[in-house]
Amino acid sequence: MKLTIIGCSGSVPGPASAASSYLVEHDGYRLLLDLGSGAFGALQRHLDPAEVDAVVLSHLHPDHCFDIAPMVVHRRFGAGRRLPRIPVLGPSGTHDRLAMAYDPGARMGLRDVFDFAAVTPGERTLGPFRLRFARVNHPVPTHAVRVSAGGRALAYSADTGPSDALVSLAEGADVLLCEASFDEGAANPPNLHLTGREAGEHAAKAGAGRLLVTHVPPWVDAARVAEAASAAFAGRTDLVAADQAYEL
Ligand SMILES: [Zn+2]
Ligand SMILES: [Zn+2]
Repeated sequence: MKLTIIGCSGSVPGPASAASSYLVEHDGYRLLLDLGSGAFGALQRHLDPAEVDAVVLSHLHPDHCFDIAPMVVHRRFGAGRRLPRIPVLGPSGTHDRLAMAYDPGARMGLRDVFDFAAVTPGERTLGPFRLRFARVNHPVPTHAVRVSAGGRALAYSADTGPSDALVSLAEGADVLLCEASFDEGAANPPNLHLTGREAGEHAAKAGAGRLLVTHVPPWVDAARVAEAASAAFAGRTDLVAADQAYEL
């Protein structure tokens, strides 16, 4: 399984990265986890977007889903023909929310382009991947996802505050790709995001093999967040950056 960081900037796109989007490939199948603001442009540095096989949206905040809109344009017009529908998995209400974002006046919506399916906690198969979803601790319905294939497992936190469900989902995963959005010690709102230390603690509790820290907003010192994560987790810990790739 190969993981490529398309975008990793937390909450908004930043000067060095688009917002959240991760490409996971196995056996020629190309799965996108999230497609946040700016990510559709960055994606094209790595593949022809017509080659994406499916999209999983962790939740409907703009920094995780709003670049579905340019993908609609591309799938309708960009290849000189309408491209076949691909699955988009997201929380219930994903179609209506994204159709509204794309064009509030359009009656036909987005079902000519995407085959929408509602995510619920539990397992499902997508191409060569086994996916397991868990509801995490964020103000809107949000699912972390564990992606397994070829005997390897990647757990992606999505956006979350402290979450036992995330620890269970990530148990024994080879990699935990975990958000860390807050500086330690600030007056952080509850049930929204993790600090670096908390991301490290989640990786430690889950017994993950490796921690990849992501979703640091441009206004937060990323090196300090990564240091806090590393101090709380004995395994290898890295701060991700756009365009980096990892073989699992
Ligand atoms: Zn976010
Ligand atoms: Zn969010």
